[in-house]
Amino acid sequence: MSSPDLTDSERQAVVEVLDTPNLSMGPQIRAFEKAFTEFTGLGHAIGVNSGTAGLHLCVRAAGISQGDVVLTSPFSFVASTNVLLFENAVPVFVDVDPRSGNINPTLLAEAARDLTAGGERAQKWLSRKGSASRRSLKAILGVDVFGQSADWDPIRKVANEFGLKVIEDSCEALGAEYKKRKTGTIGDYGVFAFYPNKQITTGEGGIIVTNDAQAADLMRALRNQGRAPGDTWLSHTYLGYNYRLDEMSAALGAAQMHRIEELLQKREQVAAWYGERLAEIPGVEAPFIEKFTTRMSWFVYVVRFNLWIDRDALAKRLEARGVPVRPYFLPIHLQPYMVERFGYRPGDFPVTEDLGRRGLALPFSGVMTEQQVEFVCRSVQIEMGKSK
Ligand SMILES: *Cc1c(COP(=O)(O)O)cnc(C)c1O
Repeated sequence: MSSPDLTDSERQAVVEVLDTPNLSMGPQIRAFEKAFTEFTGLGHAIGVNSGTAGLHLCVRAAGISQGDVVLTSPFSFVASTNVLLFENAVPVFVDVDPRSGNINPTLLAEAARDLTAGGERAQKWLSRKGSASRRSLKAILGVDVFGQSADWDPIRKVANEFGLKVIEDSCEALGAEYKKRKTGTIGDYGVFAFYPNKQITTGEGGIIVTNDAQAADLMRALRNQGRAPGDTWLSHTYLGYNYRLDEMSAALGAAQMHRIEELLQKREQVAAWYGERLAEIPGVEAPFIEKFTTRMSWFVYVVRFNLWIDRDALAKRLEARGVPVRPYFLPIHLQPYMVERFGYRPGDFPVTEDLGRRGLALPFSGVMTEQQVEFVCRSVQIEMGKSK
């Protein structure tokens, strides 16, 4: 489905770490973090060992705890909701825009108003069995899905009006821009992730960026077993975690960040090949790009089929031809553990479910050739022909 884009500079950077005694918490993580304060222009970057860990620390920093309500998107990778459940917060889902798949700001405003007004109107959003012990609306956790920014201006407006913290899950959108601003820098805290299918990789890893110095100090402590500045190795001010990013991973990440523009451009080229070729095939839609997206940072390439196409049967036939594909996303609210905990049912978030039914990720990476894209598209065209 994807492939990392690595050169000798990355290999050398990792091997050099092995010749030093510093395999964790050394100069590499500091260099990697510096690359991110420079890239984003924000004051603080905190490297962690996964995007999920980064999001979890943001949830802690935002003071979200037992019973707090957080507005978020059901059309995302599960980690964005799971980090709320780790703290026993209550996710309240808001359906998404049918074209971009990002959270719908109009519905978000409506949800915030209704929840704050309480009473019957809040019940519309909080009728779930797992929502009984709710406290108050605390935050918005928004996602920049598939490498495209959410519509942050109206989201921030809702946050300001109701005094909510904003966590920006930009794990799929490193390098993307919203009205010329980099994604990840718009929320109170932003998170990027570096699993091998992301725009840059550290193997496993993630990073938090923020301008909030106090939150940054707390998150630094929490990633390192709760050790605050001044704590010794065996004294722990907070309940923390081992969310540290090791030096080999950080060195790999820093070397990738040296090539970030090249990496993003190669992905743009592959997306452009797909766009041109798919435009010739009726019944399949290329990804929609919003006007406010001044830069797309291609993460996955998700196409959408007309309803008359049996997406799952088509996927099977593509796999059989040697084209790996994946449905993207299976809605979070319909994952078995979510159904069990909150009692969600099909139909609860129709736009999310429709996108989930019709979307298919095609193979995508910055190292794909035009011939490979052509092979995938020809396979799609042939197999779609059989669907009629
Ligand atoms: C990749 C991703 C994450 C983080 O994933 P990790 O595997 O923990 O690094 C979080 N949210 C979204 C939307 C993602 O795509």
